[in-house]
Amino acid sequence: MIIMSSVHRIGKKELNLNSYKLQKVHLLTDANKRQRLERCRQLKIRATGQRWERILFTDEKLFKLEQVHSHQNDSNWFAEASDPWLDPQAACLEAGWSGWGRAADTLRTTALALVYSVAEYCAPVWERSSHTDSIDAQLNQTMRLITGNMRPTPIDWLPYLSNIAPPDLRRKKSTSNLLSKIKANTKLPINTVLEIPPPTRLISRNPAWVADENVDLKEEWRNRWSNLAIANKDLVEDPNTKPPGYNLPRRTWSTLNRIRTSTGRCNYLLNKWNMSPDQNCDCGQIQTMHHILRDCPRRFFQGTLGDIHRCTEEALEWIRHLDIPL
Ligand SMILES: [Zn+2]
Repeated sequence: MIIMSSVHRIGKKELNLNSYKLQKVHLLTDANKRQRLERCRQLKIRATGQRWERILFTDEKLFKLEQVHSHQNDSNWFAEASDPWLDPQAACLEAGWSGWGRAADTLRTTALALVYSVAEYCAPVWERSSHTDSIDAQLNQTMRLITGNMRPTPIDWLPYLSNIAPPDLRRKKSTSNLLSKIKANTKLPINTVLEIPPPTRLISRNPAWVADENVDLKEEWRNRWSNLAIANKDLVEDPNTKPPGYNLPRRTWSTLNRIRTSTGRCNYLLNKWNMSPDQNCDCGQIQTMHHILRDCPRRFFQGTLGDIHRCTEEALEWIRHLDIPL
């Protein structure tokens, strides 16, 4: 075995060779060379006399919006190394966490750009598969990241609180968009297939052409919400609207959402999850979320749950001074 430094020494000192990296360069044909010479001469003529003063020479880098990312020149500053392609959620968290006050809006935008774009890639193709659950589990996790809710929170709450429509409805909508786009362009050969689709042979098959091309996402979500059986759902009239308090500081925002969904770190639930030996409040009664909000003599809220949901001044004040970290 020869060590690397010896190879370098032998190559450089004894064989008189130099080490070069292979690079991509412009092809220079004889015609190119002639053209370059001609242009250099023209440039020299243009700069004669005092005219060079009117030429702006610069060695500065030109920064463009949406420039191509170069691994050589551009570095990303994160607290820890994370590769968005390996773990979009980690990148989402990092981006949302860094310096912008962790506002839900920032997290939402980041989630849509980094997580949803990957999770919904080519959705019309696989949307009707039976394996979408594992993708939904990741998207639920992302929504919890935006809302600050805990894992046991009823999943139906998450799309409303994060202001992103339920994943399956979004996929259905993207298929319907694609179908209506195809049908609008009558020149496309696929239309002849869509007009007389091949017969479905297996019941389990669920091809794209049986999908509805006129999906009204907002209407479907409204209908779904009205048929849900989750606690406090009456607080929300239309799930398509943005929940109040969306840009509150992270801590207030997540406490607010835990009260809305009735799932937070009260002693009753902590005890149920084996995280606290005692389910009682310091006032002696069982400490449920309802107890803290309504019955606890030490900290009950004088207004209604609706006031909390709408983020009135009193409600925000009460959340800020709440001595139990929900
Ligand atoms: Zn109490």
